[in-house]
Amino acid sequence: MSVHLRAAMTSLPAYVAGKKSPGAIVLASNESPYGLLPSVAAVIARYADGVSRYPDMGSTRLIAAIAAHHGVDPERIAVGAGSVEVCGQLATAAVGAGDEVLFGWRAFEAYPIITAVAGGKAVKVPLTDDHVHDVDAMAAAVTDRTRLVFLCNPNNPTGTVVGEAELRRLVDNVPDDVLVVIDEAYHEYADPVAAPDATLLFPDRPNVAITRTFSKAYALAGLRVGYCVGAPEVISAVRKCQVPFSVNALAQEAAIAALGDAEEVARRAKLTVAERDRVRGALVDAGYEVPRSQGNFVWLALGDRTVDFGQFCNDGGVIVRPFAGEGVRVTIGAPGENDRFLELARAFRTS
Ligand code: PMP
Repeated sequence: MSVHLRAAMTSLPAYVAGKKSPGAIVLASNESPYGLLPSVAAVIARYADGVSRYPDMGSTRLIAAIAAHHGVDPERIAVGAGSVEVCGQLATAAVGAGDEVLFGWRAFEAYPIITAVAGGKAVKVPLTDDHVHDVDAMAAAVTDRTRLVFLCNPNNPTGTVVGEAELRRLVDNVPDDVLVVIDEAYHEYADPVAAPDATLLFPDRPNVAITRTFSKAYALAGLRVGYCVGAPEVISAVRKCQVPFSVNALAQEAAIAALGDAEEVARRAKLTVAERDRVRGALVDAGYEVPRSQGNFVWLALGDRTVDFGQFCNDGGVIVRPFAGEGVRVTIGAPGENDRFLELARAFRTS
């Protein structure tokens, strides 16, 4: 007799992580190509001894630093082991068996998994033909079973954004007892006019929460720290749903140091943005359909040619992220890495 597991487990898709391969250029996981911030490396070396003890379970100093960064009260901040865990905590807090979780599609691939793990039902609203979230269709898809709406802005993997007017329309048109989570994992790469900071747009809306991460612009993907800004009532529930001690001691120290290194973080983000726009321009010149991106990656809408393109790049020593039948997401790396990718992309056109 086999163990009784929840029915959802048979159809639960596994999260597919970007591939890594020794010697290859890895442009598959939207990481920073610039390595650990030197200021953070120094803190980690100094702190290494501290890991023989449990970390501060409440991440008190980290939460205080994040709260100061946003100019809000610490009771408005919850942390987790990456913003993916924070998204899961939000779902655990808001979603019960059979409740609906609504999001645009395609968006961050963890949303369907998080939904199923929470026992909810995913409602996927197609992006527009321009690969942008259709906020009116999303609002119209809300039912009395909807408990959570995820809006990924900028969107992974298309890089597209929803502007202030659309963001406000979505939030205004969703009932105020439905939690709206705006996932801003790529905020630091976005033009603030095109993709406004939702923490500033909705400082007091009790049903809006914003997630951020240290994995991208802060170059700490391996240490796993993310957080959420929201109303104290929601934050208190989200904190209860965190796995105890999930944000480890080194991660707490490193994230505090990274937050304090705003100038270097901004300088690196600017380099990535310039490279992103250069890469997109070159791809468009080569005949590819590439929506304007506000993230640290670009999206090539390749449809049926997606898998072949992914394999072609792989064979050429560059790992990208194909989503079969839809398109390929390519992380912006260092300039030389991007040049190698562009060579391959041009060669694929004539292959
Ligand atoms: N949200 C989005 C939109 C993402 O693309 C990612 C990472 N790919 C995450 C959240 C989670 O990142 P992390 O858990 O490393 O903070």
